[in-house]
Amino acid sequence: MTATDYEQAFWLPYTANRAFWKSPRVIQSAQGHHYTTAAGDRLLDGFSGLWTSGLGHCHPRIVAAVQSQVAELDYSLGFQATNDKAIELAGQLAALAPGDLNRVFFTNSGSEAVDTALKIALAYHHARGEGHRSRLIGRERAYHGVNFGGLSVGGIGANRKAFSACLLPGAAHLRHTYERSQMAYCRGQPAWGAHLADDLERLVLLHDASNIAAVIVEPVAGSTGVLVPPVGYLQRLRELCDRYGILLIFDEVITAFGRVGAAFAAERFELLPDILTVAKGITNGVIPMGGVLVREGIYQALMQGPEEMVEFFHGYTYSGHPVAAAAGLATLAAYEEEGSFEQARAIESLFEEGLHSLQGEPNVIDIRNIGLMGGLELAPRDGAPVGARGFDAFRDCFESGVVIRNGGDTLQFSPFLNSTGDELERIFDCVRGALRRLR
Ligand code: PLP
Repeated sequence: MTATDYEQAFWLPYTANRAFWKSPRVIQSAQGHHYTTAAGDRLLDGFSGLWTSGLGHCHPRIVAAVQSQVAELDYSLGFQATNDKAIELAGQLAALAPGDLNRVFFTNSGSEAVDTALKIALAYHHARGEGHRSRLIGRERAYHGVNFGGLSVGGIGANRKAFSACLLPGAAHLRHTYERSQMAYCRGQPAWGAHLADDLERLVLLHDASNIAAVIVEPVAGSTGVLVPPVGYLQRLRELCDRYGILLIFDEVITAFGRVGAAFAAERFELLPDILTVAKGITNGVIPMGGVLVREGIYQALMQGPEEMVEFFHGYTYSGHPVAAAAGLATLAAYEEEGSFEQARAIESLFEEGLHSLQGEPNVIDIRNIGLMGGLELAPRDGAPVGARGFDAFRDCFESGVVIRNGGDTLQFSPFLNSTGDELERIFDCVRGALRRLR
């Protein structure tokens, strides 16, 4: 192994690895709203980690909880036994969640939460003698992580391309909700598009409702560039799911814990899904963790057979890991104490104003936002691969001291729930400068 091979052994996820190693971006420490790179540069984080760290980095309360927990109980047997922190965290999440989303199954990531949710939906119908309900419906332009279930219901071509033949045969897709001609530069929810939910009727006609287990959607599609649901769209989807006995799963890996100015998007949009996935903000990104919140009736339907028998043959070695659970408890306590969800709501209009002030800058073709989620779409550069212009904007901002993210040619924004006006201004000024510099 050469010295270069050794130094470049890390194969980075969702990264242009060859370009990366030509000028690596290495972050060494963080505090509050800033990163410090290995080269000593200080960066304002305009993306809250990766939609993860709404409270800011190295939050003292979470750091202390993790330090204390790891010294007290580092790991505990997770099958047929558990630990006190996991029990407490499940209770607190159930209490925070709307309606009777009373039961919590822990995972280690959003991808695992999604695959767990899909399996719960299938197992639920099976337990009720409706095992023929085996089709899972996702949506075009959805991101539900990278495991085979989430990939199958996901709707991003690049993610699926190399795995096409191995995706779940029962998966089908609703059409996406984005129509630029009807909603460009819309602030918050577009007024047009509730009827797009009726696309579920097409799939019901094609496959018959008796074969469909669940529909999974991100209430706001995040990774494909912040696609905000049209007014009434989610309600219509809920009504149709009810009509046809189909479970509705909300993938709230991004939208939960303040990102849309409420504990959950379900709360902001005022409707109750049957199953709800979380990750990221559950521990403020400090320790990997995800979870699936399930309505009482679904859980009860699965509590069948002899009491000594495992009811749901599923779980991860680290489900309910005590250190992650301790981080989760400290995170929930901090959200509560700091009024984080209200804070996010209070700065939403400032964020919206700043973001939309970029309308008219070179190559900008749309801007979308809700809560503290923002997307700014750039026209792809002629003759270059899709995403080249977006990547250049990301890189320019990073080198200028502000971290945002690009997904293809859409720049994404996810500031801290407790961002100041000055910080928001700095983020948008930096992006404005980058857009003016870029080809
Ligand atoms: N679901 C949604 C909506 C996401 O945005 C993500 C990640 O961004 C995932 C699932 C996957 O989460 P993870 O990367 O933790 O596996």
